[in-house]
Amino acid sequence: MKHQLPELAYPKTSLAPFLSPETMEFHYGKHHQTYVDNLNKLIIGTKFEDMNLEDIVKQSEAGIFNNAAQVWNHTFYWNSLSPNSKNKPLGKLESAINQTFGSFDAFKEKFNATALTTFGSGWCWLVRNNDGQLEIVSTSNAQTPLTDKNKRPLLTCDVWEHAYYIDYRNSRAKYLENFWQFVNFDFAEKNFGPTVI
Ligand code: MN
Repeated sequence: MKHQLPELAYPKTSLAPFLSPETMEFHYGKHHQTYVDNLNKLIIGTKFEDMNLEDIVKQSEAGIFNNAAQVWNHTFYWNSLSPNSKNKPLGKLESAINQTFGSFDAFKEKFNATALTTFGSGWCWLVRNNDGQLEIVSTSNAQTPLTDKNKRPLLTCDVWEHAYYIDYRNSRAKYLENFWQFVNFDFAEKNFGPTVI
C-alpha cells in the first residue's frame, strides 16, 4: 500500500508567527514528504509492503523503521498543533496534569526542560501510561512511544533542528516558548480519553 502525506487540518500560513509559511513549506512539504517517499521505496518487496503505518512502526527496524516512525511522528506533531489553541487543557486531562505535575505551569516548565535537554535530534512527548499516570518522555531521532505498549502518546513537540532553524536559528528555547500558544489541547484530551482512572 502506498503511504501518503496526510492533509493538514489548517492552512500552512495559519501557525505564524510560531511557525512561518517557509518552515511549513520545508518541514511539512519537504521533510515529512521525504519520509513518506523513502518509506514507499523501502517497503517494496518486503513484508511491510501491505502493512498499515502503525504496524510497520511497531515491527520494523533500521531504515524502514526510521522513515515509518518519522512519518507517524510528524503526522502526530501536526495534529498536536492548532491555529485555534485554547491555551490550556480542560476536563480529565487538566485534572491529571494538575495531579501529576502540581499545576499546568509546572507541567509546561518540565516539558520545556525535557525538550530543551533532548540531545541532538529528537522528540518530547506527553504520554499516558497504562496505569493512567502521565509522563514526559524524550526520544532520540525517530524513536517514538508508539512502540511502547505501556505508553499512549497524547502530545508531541519536534525538537529536530529542522523544526525551528528557519524561524529561530539555534534557539530551541524560543521555539518551545512559542509552542504553547499553538498546542491543540483538544487533540491531547481526545488521546487521553474520557474515562476516569
Ligand atoms: Mn521534523
